[in-house]
Amino acid sequence: MYHERDRETLIVIKPDAVRGSDSDVVSRFEDVGMKIMGMKMVRRGSAARGHYSEHVDKEFYDRLVEYMKQGPVVAMALEGVNAVENCRKIIGDTNPKDANPSTIRGRYGHMSFAHADGSDSTHQNLVHASATPEEAEKEVGIWFEDDELHDYRIGSEEHVR
Ligand code: UDP
Ligand code: MG
Repeated sequence: MYHERDRETLIVIKPDAVRGSDSDVVSRFEDVGMKIMGMKMVRRGSAARGHYSEHVDKEFYDRLVEYMKQGPVVAMALEGVNAVENCRKIIGDTNPKDANPSTIRGRYGHMSFAHADGSDSTHQNLVHASATPEEAEKEVGIWFEDDELHDYRIGSEEHVR
């Protein structure tokens, strides 16, 4: 059953994907007909902190925020049917080692978290996508001002309303 509330989501292309895979990552969402409501490149540690506030008590929190500050990130607010669910499917499993090769994390990465821990590096997995509609609403608000979100029509909307 289609839930109107699952209509938008927040994607962040992390620093490791901005270095060479960013346009491919953007196209994966556009290819399925999702609409980009807002998109920008930023280097803003404060946003990364608010964005990952749910993980503030985890042992990996500081390393995670450092990773997000290693370079600029590209934030995208996307709109579409079951936006959160569809985008989580497109990005794949959190750990690139377990991600299906047809997903972004499986196609552009292969690192395992265990290997990263063993070599004292961060858990790089290319891209973030909101995990729930509630998380999406919070995260779009963290990364975008209202006037940075745009209302326009794309071709796929002629078929999906
Ligand atoms: N992460 C990490 N160490 C861990 C688990 C996660 O560094 O043990 C990082 C990883 O980059 C992940 C992010 O923290 O994408 C957020 O974790 P979450 O469990 O929310 O996964 P996601 O929603 O990104 O799939
Ligand atoms: Mg998450």
